[in-house]
Amino acid sequence: MSYVKGLKCRECGRRYPKEPLFVCEYCFGPLEVDYDYERIKKVLTRKEIESRPKNLWRYRELLPIDGRPSDGLNSGFTPLFRAKNLEKVLGVKELYIKDDSVNHPTLSFKDRVVAVALSKAKEFGFDTVACASTGNLANSTAAQAAVANLKCYIFIPADLELSKIVATLIYNPILVAVEGNYDQVNRLCTEIATVYKWAFVNINIRPYYAEGSKTFGYEIAEQLGWKAPKHIVVPCAGGSLITKIWKGLKEFYKLGLIGELKTKIYAAQATGCAPIVNAFKENSEIIKPIRPNTIAKSLAIGNPADGIYAVSTVRESGGWAESASDEEIVEAMKLLAETEGIFTETAGGVTLAVTKKLIEQGKIPKDESTIICITGQGLKTQEAVLEKIGKPIKIKPNLNSFEEALREKK
Ligand SMILES: *Cc1c(COP(=O)(O)O)cnc(C)c1O
Ligand SMILES: [Zn+2]
Repeated sequence: MSYVKGLKCRECGRRYPKEPLFVCEYCFGPLEVDYDYERIKKVLTRKEIESRPKNLWRYRELLPIDGRPSDGLNSGFTPLFRAKNLEKVLGVKELYIKDDSVNHPTLSFKDRVVAVALSKAKEFGFDTVACASTGNLANSTAAQAAVANLKCYIFIPADLELSKIVATLIYNPILVAVEGNYDQVNRLCTEIATVYKWAFVNINIRPYYAEGSKTFGYEIAEQLGWKAPKHIVVPCAGGSLITKIWKGLKEFYKLGLIGELKTKIYAAQATGCAPIVNAFKENSEIIKPIRPNTIAKSLAIGNPADGIYAVSTVRESGGWAESASDEEIVEAMKLLAETEGIFTETAGGVTLAVTKKLIEQGKIPKDESTIICITGQGLKTQEAVLEKIGKPIKIKPNLNSFEEALREKK
């Protein structure tokens, strides 16, 4: 049973059939999945959703597959919890963390989009999947392709963190390390996708893939007790996640699953790669591509595909956009670990550092509910903190040596 009407151009509204298409042939606008909300409204109640297994497919009528979901059956429904210690440090009243650093199976929010992309790729009859990745998408596509018995080609910039390379190669895909930055990798893959009949999850089946990000927003609303928070801070790379969290909340409102929608959405980027933040602050209608230079490699997209939609999401919701330096990112990673026991990757450092700034600037009021989106795992970006944390105290295996070390430490 499918609730998908087809694809629709975001710019000119022209309609397309459910096929592996991603760009409007008339205006070159991106295509988006179009649903039959009238019919969805009749079946998708709070009670119905609550009765389903705790994974991202509990919202399946709002996801773009026709048959039964086949991938990511353990992905999503990650913890959302009150951050009491961090509230004290930041001087705010109601702060929550939505924690995709423990998403299944590869510890980032990309497990959501890949679950949807691979389910859809199989419906289309593809036997090979591929992606252009800044790291996490590589991990997730390789892992889930292995489970789905699909052939897999992964393209990454050659200078990625070691852990992200290892956490891709372990699944034995064909991993291609391109001497260039992500934007060059992406351009190459767009070319490859015209020659080879592969499902590039974030290129030719991007409209379907991107819908998976909505579940991050659905879960926030459901886990807050079917209500939308006042503020959500979202890390941005290509600008898809932030756009889809907003779309997801608007759908929930339209379907009557939440009663009120007064959420402000904030974009967080690293100062070394902030094309979305720059466009917002310059009040610009276009994204000026930049050459990324930051430790937040998972967010290092200089020419974001959905950048302009990310900016309009921030504007439409009444939020703001801000960036954080590499130093602030590391400080925030340490702060999250020391207060809430969460070891996030550099992207999470970006989000918390930006949240802290927005609170200090008074953009986020101290007494309103705020969600920090933690999207990735710190064990994957150890290089970023290795020289910025303590060292183990080395001793001989006897009590004397221990007590001597203790005295020295004091
Ligand atoms: C990809 C990624 C993002 C941002 O995703 P976009 O949808 O491209 O903006 C955020 N955090 C992490 C850890 C990511 O890997
Ligand atoms: Zn169009």
